[in-house]
Amino acid sequence: MSGETIAPGAWLGLLGGGQLGRMFTMAAQSMGYRVAVVDPGDHSPAGSVADRHIRADYLDQAALDRLAADCAAVTTEFENVPARALEFLAAHCRVSPHAAAVEIAQDRVGEKRFVESCGIAVAPFAAVTRAADIDRAEPALFPGILKVARLGYDGKGQAGVDDRAAARAAFAAFGEVPCVLEKRLDLARELSVVIARRARDDSTCFPVTENRHARGILDTSIVPARVAPGLAAAAARAAETIAERLDYVGVLCVEFFVLAGDALVVNEIAPRPHNSGHYTIDACVTSQFEQQARVLAGLPLGSTRLHGPAVMVNLLGDLWRDGEPDWTHVLRHPTAKLHLYGKSEARPGRKMGHFTVLAEDVGTALETAAAIRRALRF
Ligand code: ADP
Ligand code: MG
Repeated sequence: MSGETIAPGAWLGLLGGGQLGRMFTMAAQSMGYRVAVVDPGDHSPAGSVADRHIRADYLDQAALDRLAADCAAVTTEFENVPARALEFLAAHCRVSPHAAAVEIAQDRVGEKRFVESCGIAVAPFAAVTRAADIDRAEPALFPGILKVARLGYDGKGQAGVDDRAAARAAFAAFGEVPCVLEKRLDLARELSVVIARRARDDSTCFPVTENRHARGILDTSIVPARVAPGLAAAAARAAETIAERLDYVGVLCVEFFVLAGDALVVNEIAPRPHNSGHYTIDACVTSQFEQQARVLAGLPLGSTRLHGPAVMVNLLGDLWRDGEPDWTHVLRHPTAKLHLYGKSEARPGRKMGHFTVLAEDVGTALETAAAIRRALRF
């Protein structure tokens, strides 16, 4: 699949129109590619910057035919693109990541079993397809978290469940869709690793990132992660093993939990660039989005070297409670970089943008980020 090089000027296709797609589109365009985005919405973040926005569902045959006819290669920006769409396109043009890898990441149960099959730990869990599965679950899984197996994101489709009764109620509230019941772990930290891979022995790993979440949504990413070098190396190795075992082609993120004693478990896999890798735009030689475009076009991978410490903070819709925030609070710091995704409607919890602070050391970057938060009042 590393195959032929697709020269700038060619069309690249993208399934999905969110902010990850927008930043991919911008990176690909800056290298001279033209980008066609398929997304059903009228005003999607990626569609509004793409060279062409095909307003259609991901399984719309006319849209897929058009991508297949015009694009030299196609990628996705979210894991819930139907595998069937990727399989159809793969018969006509280069598609990365491949449908089988995306399919594994679409289902939390299959994903956990896959990670275990790689010899890597996950949180203790039980698959729940019927209420009886909750009755039979190990007592040690409580207190736990019930998560819908498919389509959850940003903490949506999750409920903290202290006991079986709460788990049964949450299962009913989710409409008895397949779920996973996970033990609630005491997290010392969360880490993530973004990898870009073209083929065996042809992959690059971005610096390991430390992530803080608030209400199930990523809030802050800190890089380099403040962990022992051995732990960071173990996380990178685990992510490489997972990419290898998936025979992955494209950009992939692995989220980790760090437990007491530096024990590492995999939380989940994202078959695409990741929110925790947004800092790469401003802080690395090559961004995760450029890397995605390079893999897609069959170009050599770029350096993932970090220019210096960075802290990324998400800007959620809650900030818009009194209208558009005053962005000079970010921009008056000369090493703070503002990214807004062009979303017209700000809803609480919705990712509207982010900023990244660059500094000589993580402590200073965190202080500047905190000052910006205070000024923006969040
Ligand atoms: P999403 O797909 O919405 O990102 P995650 O499964 O990654 O869902 O959960 C979001 C966040 O919730 C995690 O990053 C972590 O902070 C917290 N969380 C999830 N599962 C657990 C768990 N088993 N124990 C403790 N915290 C958890
Ligand atoms: Mg997650």
